Amino acid sequence: MRVLIAGAGIGGLTLALSLHERGIPCTVFEQAEQVRPLGVGINTLPHAIGELAALGLLPALDAVGVRTHELIYLNRFGQEVWREKRGMHAGHPHPQFSIHRGRLQGVLHEAVLARLPAGSVRTGHRLAGFTQDAACVTATFADRAGATVATERGDALVAADGIHSAARALLHPQDPGIRWQGINMWRGAVEWPPYLDGETMAIAGDMNEKLVLYPIAPETDGKRLTNWVVNVRGGDPARPPARQDWSRVGRLEDILPAVRRFSLPFLDLEALIRATPEFYEYPMCDRDPLPWWTQGRVTLLGDAAHPMYPVGSNGAAQAILDARLLARLLAEHPAPEALAAYEADRLPKTAELVRLNRIGGPERIVDEVSARAPNGFARLEDVISREELAAIAGGYAAKAGFALQPSPSRH
Ligand SMILES: Cc1cc2nc3c(=O)[nH]c(=O)nc-3n(C[C@H](O)[C@H](O)[C@H](O)COP(=O)(O)OP(=O)(O)OC[C@H]3O[C@@H](n4cnc5c(N)ncnc54)[C@H](O)[C@@H]3O)c2cc1C
Repeated sequence: MRVLIAGAGIGGLTLALSLHERGIPCTVFEQAEQVRPLGVGINTLPHAIGELAALGLLPALDAVGVRTHELIYLNRFGQEVWREKRGMHAGHPHPQFSIHRGRLQGVLHEAVLARLPAGSVRTGHRLAGFTQDAACVTATFADRAGATVATERGDALVAADGIHSAARALLHPQDPGIRWQGINMWRGAVEWPPYLDGETMAIAGDMNEKLVLYPIAPETDGKRLTNWVVNVRGGDPARPPARQDWSRVGRLEDILPAVRRFSLPFLDLEALIRATPEFYEYPMCDRDPLPWWTQGRVTLLGDAAHPMYPVGSNGAAQAILDARLLARLLAEHPAPEALAAYEADRLPKTAELVRLNRIGGPERIVDEVSARAPNGFARLEDVISREELAAIAGGYAAKAGFALQPSPSRH
């Protein structure tokens, strides 16, 4: 068996490592000329980290990321709404990691280069099309100018080519495209003195104006690379930004009014944002869940299959879970059966998360409190009960597959 993988992102590289672990040859084709550490912060949940640990990557992750200790939710006045331990601190067998997306990709890429035969990652190869018959799939790859640079045959083609997936567009020409609720995100990262215990993620505000903050690298010289995201609802949902407007360099004047409406007891937010050398503006987008991902020997994985709003720390985690299951199934079944079984397991679970993230995911905790007490509160219990808060957080964890199983001692 030989597997062709389009995309050297988090999902594609995890799949390559997982196939190699099971003795299945594969080649990764990446459109970029180089695998470069792009992006800013990302959170990866314990069940996905467990999969990376099984690949022997925990020491490499510890060298570049942060084991998240706690997650606190606040209103925009800095009043605490909810606090929960994360990863092993919460009793999971594996940590949650807050990490730079490019460094996570770097850990995976370096492992692929070290473990797989030379030439297993081919950059400058953009998936452009495919055909298939009963015996194999044939994929064509193009360079930036659109010239065909390779035609490759394999038993399966897995398109892990991200939110703008070429394969998804070929499989589903009727797909209505990017969905947008009018929320823009400004994302940056800057070296900053640790706040709270140095390993805490903070989410404040509501669906209209939200702040997400977490450290993403080990401390050096009294500072940690600290990731921040400011979300502001204000765009026209009927007019999602054109592709060329994604990842624009952000302008301070566009976010300062929103930033100044937050007050945090443990951090000078405006100073942090002003100190960030460069930050970027992105639309918060997803796509509708698909009715199917697989056609014979071709399937979708990660954001290509189920792009979701970046709430609840699930983008990378679900791509990793996809990859691990698919590799296991490919080791046990002929390619078409494996791909069909993979879709049957993963499509409903990830579609549910796409839908839950659209309504705020676990962050609905702060949305709910802000809706009931827009000017803050004297006593949280007069606004919302602990049971209600726990139900939102716990309900999401269960859907995302990382709820703790109650142990006998807890009964
Ligand atoms: C440049 C970049 C920066 C990002 N930054 C962040 C961030 O800061 N925070 C965050 O939460 N999420 C970020 N994401 C998204 C995040 O990586 C994904 O949500 C998640 O990790 C799922 O990974 P994936 O492998 O499915 O997709 P991705 O990680 O998006 O990887 C897709 C890969 O496929 C490649 N590709 C695209 N089209 C083709 C094609 N036709 N042929 C071959 N290769 C192709 C892309 O270049 C990319 O390497 C970023 C994604 C990218 C591509």
